[in-house]
Amino acid sequence: MQASRSRPGAVLFDRDGTLIHDDPGCSADLSLVRPVDGAAAAVRAVAERGIPVGVVTNQAAIGRGSATNTQVESVNALVDHLVGPFHTWQVCPHTPEDACGCRKPQPGLVTRAAGVLDVDPTTVVVIGDIESDMLAARAAGARGILVPTDRTLADEVRRAPEVAPDLAAAVALALGDT
Ligand SMILES: [Mg+2]
Ligand SMILES: [Zn+2]
Repeated sequence: MQASRSRPGAVLFDRDGTLIHDDPGCSADLSLVRPVDGAAAAVRAVAERGIPVGVVTNQAAIGRGSATNTQVESVNALVDHLVGPFHTWQVCPHTPEDACGCRKPQPGLVTRAAGVLDVDPTTVVVIGDIESDMLAARAAGARGILVPTDRTLADEVRRAPEVAPDLAAAVALALGDT
């Protein structure tokens, strides 16, 4: 893919399992927010190039009623403080049963972020820890880079368009530095 070699229009990160450790309670509880090692530096490496950064995150806890919008916004503000700042936050509050167009693997969060940032979705790179991040990227015409955790399924790693061992390596790939 030639497009993968050019400067990205924006880099979008998944939140849970990518920027912060995926804890079941982390959507509602600030004390459970633990950034992944190197997350702040990886985001900074992108932003320092003048490339906008964003977050695309499914937060079905809102739709299920186990977290309020306000709680999720507080957690997002903390993440923005710890590893950001980000130019855009795109959150899907729906459950799978809502069949919305924004819950990853649907492309809505990615296309919405691209719209806010005024960049072509096909120039966007999405970095995430599971296949639905990669599918959302593909559905939006964007490039996906998987950074597996120990919870990522082996089949998802095998099927990923690109895989990086950590966020620093993912960003280096995204920026064409490798
Ligand atoms: Mg995730
Ligand atoms: Zn949604």
